[in-house]
Amino acid sequence: MAPSTSTAPFDETGPPGPAGSPKFRKARPFRLRLPPLALMRLLGFWALVAVGPMVRPPAAGEEARPRVWRFERSDVIVAADFDGAGAAEAAAEDADSIEVVIRPENTPINNSAWYAFQLTAERPRRITVRLSYRGGRHRYPPKLSRDGLAWRPIDPADYEPGRGQAVLRLDVGPEPLWVAAQELWNTPRLEAWMDRIAEHDEVTRRVAGRSIRGAAVHELLISASDEPHLVILLGRQHPPEVTGTLGLVHFVERLLEDDETAVAFRSRFHVLLFPLLNPDGVSAGYWRHNVAGVDLNRDWGPFKQPETRAVRDAVVHYRDERGWRPYLLLDFHSTRHDVFYTPAEDAEYFPPAFVNRWLDGLDARLPDYRVRRQATGSGRPLAQRWGQRQLGIASVTYEFGDHTDRRLIRRTARAAAEEAMAQLLAAAEEAQPAAAAAAP
Ligand SMILES: [Zn+2]
Repeated sequence: MAPSTSTAPFDETGPPGPAGSPKFRKARPFRLRLPPLALMRLLGFWALVAVGPMVRPPAAGEEARPRVWRFERSDVIVAADFDGAGAAEAAAEDADSIEVVIRPENTPINNSAWYAFQLTAERPRRITVRLSYRGGRHRYPPKLSRDGLAWRPIDPADYEPGRGQAVLRLDVGPEPLWVAAQELWNTPRLEAWMDRIAEHDEVTRRVAGRSIRGAAVHELLISASDEPHLVILLGRQHPPEVTGTLGLVHFVERLLEDDETAVAFRSRFHVLLFPLLNPDGVSAGYWRHNVAGVDLNRDWGPFKQPETRAVRDAVVHYRDERGWRPYLLLDFHSTRHDVFYTPAEDAEYFPPAFVNRWLDGLDARLPDYRVRRQATGSGRPLAQRWGQRQLGIASVTYEFGDHTDRRLIRRTARAAAEEAMAQLLAAAEEAQPAAAAAAP
């Protein structure tokens, strides 16, 4: 698919958001305030330091690789020493030509060829950077930033994509230039977002479990209801899938607004949110896997990984210990285009026909947007399949396109949240008489 040719800056700061609740009113305007560069670099450093000796990383010797490259031939410095950085090697072909090698954590692997690094140079000028892919192909058009927070797509005139490589022309100087596959929503940035969401009166935050490297698998619980209805939201099983994170962020922020629908929804439903299932993979700039080299979205049956077990155990805890009834599981991802991976047409789950009702309703809300849906065919142990088979509920893998306009992501994710709330309220209403009739 052709990348967007727009070079407009991404709308990173999101909606004015849930300013209505008392806590949010007290808080600063609804705009991400992120840790300063120095702190982000420090966190990246600690993420690397935290690598324990007990786990063998997927790529042998990976942790011993230099993370900052300096060259005799060039004053350009390539740095991949921050959280989310991804670059395997770098070399100077001459003073103004740098090669950055991009390599996956292990193989075989889905071609989500992530990269993120910083460039500085003593002398301000335009240089050429060649991204060279080993074990994969170029997928993501570069995004550029001067502070790691505000990003814009590279100007198409400065970019020659190919299969095994891509050539970029970039203006470097003493101030760092960030170059990344997608705008950086790394662990510090997601944690900053979670901090702010957790300021809401109805939100509590806890650590559901730990990754292999000991990073927190965070759980946010939106809970203001006396009723036992539950929705489950998952994100970032796959590290490069930033547009999935953007979708999740907008979806959740819509649930926390103070309009009639959202307030009514939260008065009846609890929402259990896990925005960062693969913190190790995100921090290490992986393409797909956790540090055991496993695709977490193929572990919802074996449950051999601590990250997936933590989420499963939390969901089961709320269901069995608190008696909450799950209704819906949404697992946010990214792929080539926007698509909803749904249960098969003849699949049985609770609430009956929910997925079709929700997506039909979304279609009606967005007349100029195509709501693509595709039944998940195989028997792979996906989170979606676990939700459908083991929890017996409506379960959807919600995919946002790599190149989908960021404002469109916001618009569609908010509409999807609005329609989901309306349909969930209707489903709770329908389930009520049945439950009452079944009571002794
Ligand atoms: Zn994915």
